[in-house]
Amino acid sequence: ATLERLRGQDAAHYLHPFTDSRELAAIGARVITHAEGIYVFDGEGRKILDGMSGLWCVNLGYGRREIADAVHRQMLELPYYNSFFQTTHPRAVELATRLATLAPAAGETRFDHVFFSSSGSESNDTNIRLVRRYWDLMGQPQRKTLISRWNGYHGSTIGGASLSGMSGMHSQGDLPIPGVAHIMQPFAFEHAHPGESRDDFGLRAARALEEKILELGPDTVAAFIAEPVQGAGGVIIPPDSYWPEIQRIVDKYGILLISDEVICAFGRLGHWFAYEKFGYRPDLVTFAKGVTSGYVPLGGVMVGSRVAKVLVEQGGEFNHGYTYSGHPVACQAALTTLDIMQAEGLVERVRSDTGPWLAQGFAALADHPLVGLAESCGMVAGLQLVRDRASNTLFDSALGVGMLCRGHCFNNGVIMRAVGDRMIIAPPLVMTRSDIDELLRLIRHALDLTLADVRA
Ligand code: PLP
Repeated sequence: ATLERLRGQDAAHYLHPFTDSRELAAIGARVITHAEGIYVFDGEGRKILDGMSGLWCVNLGYGRREIADAVHRQMLELPYYNSFFQTTHPRAVELATRLATLAPAAGETRFDHVFFSSSGSESNDTNIRLVRRYWDLMGQPQRKTLISRWNGYHGSTIGGASLSGMSGMHSQGDLPIPGVAHIMQPFAFEHAHPGESRDDFGLRAARALEEKILELGPDTVAAFIAEPVQGAGGVIIPPDSYWPEIQRIVDKYGILLISDEVICAFGRLGHWFAYEKFGYRPDLVTFAKGVTSGYVPLGGVMVGSRVAKVLVEQGGEFNHGYTYSGHPVACQAALTTLDIMQAEGLVERVRSDTGPWLAQGFAALADHPLVGLAESCGMVAGLQLVRDRASNTLFDSALGVGMLCRGHCFNNGVIMRAVGDRMIIAPPLVMTRSDIDELLRLIRHALDLTLADVRA
């Protein structure tokens, strides 16, 4: 009865993000009541392995008392203060210093400065303003355009949704804003020509950037922004040839490179920052989510020395900031999260132990009759559901096979996300090998149930 009342009130009052409200009212929301470790529990008493770490953020798992205690202490000591108008406070400074220490130099670029926000979206809006400000200060105000990729995701604010390459977002609200252009994504499964090698495809996908720069006029382009591995687009892992070619192109035209690491930073790919894994040299790095393991909202931008030097030395006041930029409670949650990650050696564990373990086990799912491709990178993974494996023929999207599979996952104890007919995971970084085995067993079971439905 309590559950039904909650569902009724939910449908009556709560406008959910990324949800069809009428559909939700018809089926009733799934209610997550509590969580512990890598499991969430629903109102019907199910124990469900959270293969998505919430929304790619609860990297340390649920119920970490150290974070709760530290946040509680911080709330009593200094629950809020800001850093506008020449004030500061210890936690923001400590976190900025800590992040500057963690972010490796990329070639000549050092990451000594950080700007804080409360989310990935706000951080990418900050990026738009930062790069335009940079080019203004450089005496090239005509460099305004940011280039991003179709099927990339960079947030839901007007700026973030514009940078995102989701046509379903653009069609709602007259987006993108002027000064944003999109190029193809490096998704070999979908876009490679027959017979084209993965690396040849990667070069072609990267060269779409050069073509776009030339089309727009090189002196009008401010920056290129991309996720190291696309997350919300369906865990799309670029060919090895992709990032080096992107680096060559941004260097050639002198445009800024923004690495949107909202999902990929803080150990998800086995490194503190993903640009290190792929070996490219960004000027700005967006982060959020995992920095606090999702316990308290916090995001930000690591500002590389090329931009920081101009901004700090010539910029004067940057007329930009959020009430909650550097929120002390959020910063404390981040500091404790980073303490735990370091004490438990989680980044190293993902890189050399659990990441490779997941890679092996996940790739083995490709023997399933429904799976056309299964690949992972660190602790993100995606598999493509197909109607016919020999020819990689997709299902008619109207059949909603991905959604069907998602339902079987949930009802049988594991959360996977469906992006069309791509099934994706981003499990907590604290998972052990045996947790991963359990995750894979649950996924295979859900695939079997989906197959039975499809054949029926
Ligand atoms: N950028 C990337 C790569 C993301 O995955 C997300 C969220 O999933 C965002 C930006 C937006 O972050 P937020 O939802 O915190 O605004």
